[in-house]
Amino acid sequence: MTALRARPLPDDEEGDPVDEAAFLAEVRAFLVADLTEDLREAGRNTLGVHADIAACRVWHRRLYEQGWIAPSWPKAWGGTGWTARQRFLFDTECVRNDAPVLFAGGVRSLGPLLIEMGTPAQRARYLPAILSGDHLWCQGFSEPGAGSDLAAIATRAVRRGDRYVINGSKIWTTGAHHASHMFAIVRTADGEKRQQGMTFLLIDMKSPGLTVQPIIGLAGDHEFNAVFFDDVEVPVENRVGPENDGWTVAKRLMSLARSNNTPAALVGRVLRRTALAVSAAGEALEPSVRTRLAALQIEHEAFTRFELDALPDGRAEAGASMTPSMLKLIGSELHQRVAELAMEVAGPLAAADLSVVGLSEPALADGARASAKHLSVRAASIYSGTSETQRNVIARQLLG
Ligand SMILES: Cc1cc2nc3c(=O)[nH]c(=O)nc-3n(C[C@H](O)[C@H](O)[C@H](O)COP(=O)(O)OP(=O)(O)OC[C@H]3O[C@@H](n4cnc5c(N)ncnc54)[C@H](O)[C@@H]3O)c2cc1C
Repeated sequence: MTALRARPLPDDEEGDPVDEAAFLAEVRAFLVADLTEDLREAGRNTLGVHADIAACRVWHRRLYEQGWIAPSWPKAWGGTGWTARQRFLFDTECVRNDAPVLFAGGVRSLGPLLIEMGTPAQRARYLPAILSGDHLWCQGFSEPGAGSDLAAIATRAVRRGDRYVINGSKIWTTGAHHASHMFAIVRTADGEKRQQGMTFLLIDMKSPGLTVQPIIGLAGDHEFNAVFFDDVEVPVENRVGPENDGWTVAKRLMSLARSNNTPAALVGRVLRRTALAVSAAGEALEPSVRTRLAALQIEHEAFTRFELDALPDGRAEAGASMTPSMLKLIGSELHQRVAELAMEVAGPLAAADLSVVGLSEPALADGARASAKHLSVRAASIYSGTSETQRNVIARQLLG
């Protein structure tokens, strides 16, 4: 793990120089005082893209009360005014201290989008509720037959007076069963190009005609869903951007959101657990396991440095437009390889099923967790753009 030594930070939003050592001390003191053992346990047990939802709600609220829930937002809208490096340090410290990974589509994606592209009324209505955690947002983009090829969406909205009426379905919608709202793209016209004729809407999950159907993942967990729209009405004022130009809005949102799910710190947490399991297993393991662990540790070190360099005030400015794709690609595939090694280290214990063995027998529970994590992390190279999609983006940039 890269040692993050204190150094002077660039100026914050208000132009004051930042004292990194003092900043880190403040963050660490807060985490020590406010992360209860229950919250840390929920953080450690995270399988998919967010921790147990009850823990997410508690931790979200606590960060909100502290004024730290939306580090990337401008201060005027409730952000912290921190530099990119401060945000990186904060995220890293949260993961190192096993803070729950939040269900935060509102904070990470929709909030920044509304700040840039929302109407004054949308900002006034939604931003405070995103910050407080009263509104939780899910993302309704993918449909059966439209994932990587998002322009193929067929869910249709027809304008009737001051409402859109939606019919169709979305799939793989993470947290639709927890969310109060969904941001979605729907088809409102058939343009010459398939990217034309889409509209970006904000939808209340309690709208009549909207139903959520669970989908159980490989690891046996319920994280995503299918969502059905049967004459669901959405007020026209809930449209972000112009009618039929939802593609531009969705692209902007994805550029704000991409690479958020697999930061180096998160991969580092799985790597540390794996290293502990390797040293506990001692001579029982084949020597090649240690070699693979060392290789992954070196790769992780390089990934951490790349992430630091990719910060806006870091060094990796050339080729910046492909940087999010590189971070997503490297992070998700490294995460998968670390989780795979952890499962191998668990050996036969990885055959245990967490829902059957519970947490009372530590060795079995660790084995069950390792296999559940391995299965769950298979999805990391699919969601937020598959690895092939990221490679296409990188190749297009490199080849011009
Ligand atoms: C855990 C999880 C959570 C998700 N959460 C959400 C969510 O909250 N909201 C949401 O809208 N969606 C969500 N998704 C859906 C996700 O965005 C899609 O699964 C993803 O975009 C891939 O689309 P697809 O499943 O239709 O696969 P396809 O696009 O059909 O791809 C199938 C395979 O073909 C490859 N492929 C496709 N096109 C190309 C190409 N041009 N070149 C090379 N290879 C190609 C893909 O890489 C993949 O390997 C989630 C998915 C997962 C697994």
